[in-house]
Amino acid sequence: MIDPPAGMPVDPVVALARAWSYTVSVRSLCEFTAKRGDLDRRFTPSATALEGINGQAAVTARRGPQYQSEVALEGRFGMLRVRGRADGYDPGRRCLEEIKTVRGDPDELPENRRQLHWAQLESYGALFCRDRGVDEIDLALVYVDAATQAETVLRQRASAADLEAALAERCQRFLAWAQQEAAHREARDAALTELPFPPGAFRPGQRVLAESVYRAATSARCLLAQAPTGIGKTIGTLFPLLRAMPGQQLDKIGYLTCKGTGRLTALDAMHGLREATPGRSLRVLALVARDQACEHPDKACHGESCPLAQGFYDRLPAARAEAVTEGWLDPAAQRRIALTHQICPYYLGQELLRWADVVVGDVHHAFDPNGQLHGLAQALDWRIGLLVDEAHNLVDRARQMYTAELSLAQIRSARRIAPRALQPRFDRMLRVASELADGQDTPYAAHDSVPDAFADALQALQAALGEHLQDQPLATGPLLSFHFDALRLQRLVEKFGDHSVFDVQLGSATARRDGPEPLITGRDEDAVDATFCLRNLVPAPFLRPRFAGCHTATLFSATLGTESYQRDLLGLPEDTAWIDVPPAFPPEHLRVRVAGRLSTRYPDRAASLDELVDLMARQFNEHPGNYLAFFSSFEYLEQAAQRLAQRQPTLAFWRQDRAMDEDSRRGFLERFVPDGQGIGFAVLGGAFAEGVDLPGSRLIGAFVATLGLPPVTPVQEQIRLRLDSLFGRGHGYADLVPGMLKVVQAAGRVLRTPQDRGWLWLIDDRYLRADVRRLLPGWWRFDDARE
Ligand code: SF4
Repeated sequence: MIDPPAGMPVDPVVALARAWSYTVSVRSLCEFTAKRGDLDRRFTPSATALEGINGQAAVTARRGPQYQSEVALEGRFGMLRVRGRADGYDPGRRCLEEIKTVRGDPDELPENRRQLHWAQLESYGALFCRDRGVDEIDLALVYVDAATQAETVLRQRASAADLEAALAERCQRFLAWAQQEAAHREARDAALTELPFPPGAFRPGQRVLAESVYRAATSARCLLAQAPTGIGKTIGTLFPLLRAMPGQQLDKIGYLTCKGTGRLTALDAMHGLREATPGRSLRVLALVARDQACEHPDKACHGESCPLAQGFYDRLPAARAEAVTEGWLDPAAQRRIALTHQICPYYLGQELLRWADVVVGDVHHAFDPNGQLHGLAQALDWRIGLLVDEAHNLVDRARQMYTAELSLAQIRSARRIAPRALQPRFDRMLRVASELADGQDTPYAAHDSVPDAFADALQALQAALGEHLQDQPLATGPLLSFHFDALRLQRLVEKFGDHSVFDVQLGSATARRDGPEPLITGRDEDAVDATFCLRNLVPAPFLRPRFAGCHTATLFSATLGTESYQRDLLGLPEDTAWIDVPPAFPPEHLRVRVAGRLSTRYPDRAASLDELVDLMARQFNEHPGNYLAFFSSFEYLEQAAQRLAQRQPTLAFWRQDRAMDEDSRRGFLERFVPDGQGIGFAVLGGAFAEGVDLPGSRLIGAFVATLGLPPVTPVQEQIRLRLDSLFGRGHGYADLVPGMLKVVQAAGRVLRTPQDRGWLWLIDDRYLRADVRRLLPGWWRFDDARE
């Protein structure tokens, strides 16, 4: 059992205050009480955060030196403490202002949005009058145009009594909820203080992990935890963070996975922990993607199209109340509650993010530029603790989050459907992009900066497109999709630095990240295509503030490479702790052998194929059972499979295909029956190299016929050059470290339980090298190289 450290300071004032008060921001209070009517997620042009800052600065500069900005206000209404910052106060005019930067005509703003703005301003007005002891005040809602910074000002004079009455009414409506929330928080914290470890003792290594997570949380630090398979990492991280939650006054815990496979395990573990929590008061929410939760995929998210968006905010309070009472909010529960109240399950889930204690989701919820968990945590000043599972994938996932691209084909397609007024901007963008592509005499070229002409043309096109869309605030369709793609690229262009590269790939859009296909295809077939990609290589500058913004974060995996690799590439704080947890089973259960006379280098493969398959057959004949064999590519896999079939025609094997759907993947794994015999051929880094659990005799060994080095491509070369220049040469950040991460992940399929025993063959002479060995788990016991 983990107990909080002795002598941990408990602020009696905070404790007392928390026992009888509930703090809410003006923004939250108004959002909770002032939203009515339909959900409407249609596009309405909105200003960027930077434009918002600029708009506010422009207004402030016009008001003169006596103007007071960011006026902090706070007041009590019974047990409720309401606080916030009014944008500005002009003492000369005795006018309190709320500044909203908008795109387009403020008259076009949806009525419920404007009501929300007034509710905020009036609330600030009430707090201000109380604070300064004034009887009446002028209130001004200042809409600033993001492009021109022209002001549209809506005014009203209000008496302190009226403002106080309106705020009191809002608070009264919020109070019942607040009381319930305060009671919930108190019960939750009390229960977590008593949370017993789930039935069964700590497994070996699990206690070490749990204590480290707890220590990291109580010292507000981050932790990198390399912990092998079989020790129960999910419980070993969740339990201590839950125990730390009351003492550290965490508002929320985010359990985030890099691949969807870990989410069910996390929910299972969380279910057990919740059942063990006295009163089962913990609220657990599983965040799901919109596509998975949507009940009407053929409709759009607004009241005129989707029945579950109609009157959403009118029915939300009852659904929300039912959901928080229920507490266990997996996707099925969210759907059931939402449909009972005839509202959208996906947007109910988004709302519940505010009220959940533990959120199980994907890493993009915390690390993506638009991650909802991050966005709300910032806006509502939450204190959060993160657990990141399968963290060895975070570097790659984060690179994708901060990479964006646009192709000539996309620009051409969008131009064809754009109105005439926009054609000149599209033409300029096409001309600049085409010139860039035409001037390139190799299929791929990387630039250390974004060419000014490209950035300017993109900015001009986006400005024109934005203006056009302002006039069609409810636009949908491919032009809007293009606008979003271009916007994503433009935002990254604005943040360009040595963490990224701007590259141009001629030909088809091969470098596309996970994203929509080009808008329209089938025309311009003969035209040259090119993809312009702002490719992130080092996510650290983007992730550093994310880690700094949370109270604690533990990144864990069976393999993390080296401490410095994760810290340098992810931007973890300097005081991030590191632990390497010993395995849950005797090291001798895994017999690691190196085939040190064999080379799997590309030029040597043809010559070493016979030796490779003979080695596999020999191992199989000496120790019959199920094996996995990993190769660097499908091509190599195919060559080895064919050679095995020729030389060992009776040996059963099956292989991974390039495009396997869910059923074929299941079929591949189902061949690993207990006490079965055969070899499954798979690609390293692919679907069967991690997240696959084949305990006992379902899998007794693995052959790894590769070092997992990334293929030599121009993009890979850019990664290598940039990492060398930023971090120095010789660390293997670009190739060896990520390669070994894949190898160790694949090897982790062999031993799944403390009872398992198995063989691991590392096939390549380079596995004898010290720089390679240093990246393999220290507990691996190598048999003498004998092949
Ligand atoms: S059900 Fe689907 S279409 Fe309807 S509001 Fe929800 S996500 Fe949008």
